[in-house]
Amino acid sequence: MKRCKVCRKKPRLERRVDSDGNLFCSDGCFEVFEGGPDDFDHPYIDDYESIRRSYIDWEMSYEEDLHKSVYFLYPKKADLIEWIDEMLEPYWGCYGLEGHDGVFSAEIYRYMQELLKIQEVIRDWEPDERKYKKWLKGIRTAKSEQTN
Ligand SMILES: [Zn+2]
Repeated sequence: MKRCKVCRKKPRLERRVDSDGNLFCSDGCFEVFEGGPDDFDHPYIDDYESIRRSYIDWEMSYEEDLHKSVYFLYPKKADLIEWIDEMLEPYWGCYGLEGHDGVFSAEIYRYMQELLKIQEVIRDWEPDERKYKKWLKGIRTAKSEQTN
């Protein structure tokens, strides 16, 4: 696996790229790197930035949302699936290229596949008792801290 151009860490959730194909582990490393291309006007930059942000948000929150779907009955699983559909809607034109139009197009394609995977996980999800109890404990602690 390629490592971050700046700090040599393995990029994970916050991975980002520039149009030269330089890889970074985070926005922080991306910003300190000098001599990168000016991607400001790149035709894919807006789509890339927004799908990257959506993916990070979904990856960080979908399990929480699924637990909420059990406890609060909102959002429902069907809502989450629908929201991912809506979120992906603007990118289907890009999906057809299968990532063969440069670095950003490849990343957009990859994020779409990851988001579709999350959608599948949501579809098949059943509460795991251990995780759910742990989550419940977390919200109860948060509630009692608010009232105290
Ligand atoms: Zn880094």
